[in-house]
Amino acid sequence: MESANGKKVLISGASIAGLSTACLLTKLGYTVTVVEQANEPRTAGAAVDIRGLAVDISKRMGIFDQLDANRLRVERIEFKEADDSTAGSIALTNDNVDSQDDDIEIERDIFINSLFDRLLTTVTFLFNNTITTLAETNDGVYVTLKDGTQQTFDLVIGCDGLHSIVRHNWFGHEADYAYFMEAYFSITTVSKLLINEKTMQLFNVPDKAITLNAYNKKTDIIFSFFSQKEIPYNYRDIDQQRAIILNQFAGQGWRTNELLTEVQQSDKFYFDKFCQIKMPSWTKGRVALVGDAGYCASPAAGMGASLSVIGAAALADALEKHSGNLELAFQEYNQTLRPFIDEVQATAELNVKENFIPRTEEAIHRRNTQTTAF
Ligand SMILES: Cc1cc2nc3c(=O)[nH]c(=O)nc-3n(C[C@H](O)[C@H](O)[C@H](O)COP(=O)(O)OP(=O)(O)OC[C@H]3O[C@@H](n4cnc5c(N)ncnc54)[C@H](O)[C@@H]3O)c2cc1C
Repeated sequence: MESANGKKVLISGASIAGLSTACLLTKLGYTVTVVEQANEPRTAGAAVDIRGLAVDISKRMGIFDQLDANRLRVERIEFKEADDSTAGSIALTNDNVDSQDDDIEIERDIFINSLFDRLLTTVTFLFNNTITTLAETNDGVYVTLKDGTQQTFDLVIGCDGLHSIVRHNWFGHEADYAYFMEAYFSITTVSKLLINEKTMQLFNVPDKAITLNAYNKKTDIIFSFFSQKEIPYNYRDIDQQRAIILNQFAGQGWRTNELLTEVQQSDKFYFDKFCQIKMPSWTKGRVALVGDAGYCASPAAGMGASLSVIGAAALADALEKHSGNLELAFQEYNQTLRPFIDEVQATAELNVKENFIPRTEEAIHRRNTQTTAF
């Protein structure tokens, strides 16, 4: 397929950052190929939030109406005691939510499928494949894929998440950029309501938290805990990860036993550390990073999806403004986005410590009696 502007782009990753970048770059006339290691776009996972500027960008991408029609609404946050009494609560009415038009919570598959459907005729998707090597030449980036295909692209964009292969191959080891936030979490989604729908409940003891979030006849069960040191574990061994959660929470109060049983029985279990990616630059040569790959803020930000969308637009806008001058475009992308990323990452760090996993009884009491949502 020939592009209107003559430029070919390879995007690694078909999730929020990858599909948003693909959408905005095809609008600028780029010929876009997306390579994804899975056999379809990533739709599994917890609900995401499209906030602030990301809402306007969803209009630009032509998916706002679908997002708006399927939005989820948390109406009440409750802070629970061990005996299930309620220590404090926040009603999320229109008065104390910033603006309903500024914040859309949505199931991940709705966002992904809305974009994917729009791109099917304009973007080439290579599923079950991944980049193995990248080499910059005078006129592009020479890419080899796992299936042996080799091709030169004008631009390569890594949208392949927290454990990005593009970042690893082009910018260096994950350990050089990953910032451990001294906490771990697991999320288990069960297909039943464990609490009232549109409600979130939090139960804490010092250094440990349990959160329930109920929507669309499902409940997310989230266990989080503080850990000063990183815990070695095999990321492919789900049973080992379940055992870490069981050890951490066995014997705690409230509904812990019942919820741990759900964790043991569910096949929808995800475990990871709270972690951020901090890089001095998200671009090098003809390669750029967008979304979690470049500036993951952690789930504690509640902004990961929005950062991916806003980052995709920042890159597209810089490329449009400096058409033909990649160096200036990448400079602008780094400069314009940096203050916002710094702010979101700092807020996420505070959120982990003060709102999600307070470290003392006193701090838990302070959090439980607050009257505004975080
Ligand atoms: C448990 C959890 C809860 C969260 N809750 C929220 C929330 O409430 N609100 C919110 O806004 N955000 C939330 N987030 C964050 C949000 O999900 C991420 O920030 C967002 O998905 C980032 O999008 P991304 O496209 O950059 O990366 P990802 O969504 O991680 O997508 C990366 C894509 O790249 C693909 N990929 C990976 N490696 C390769 C490879 N080698 N080759 C090809 N493809 C590859 C993956 O398969 C995937 O499709 C949560 C995240 C987690 C893990």
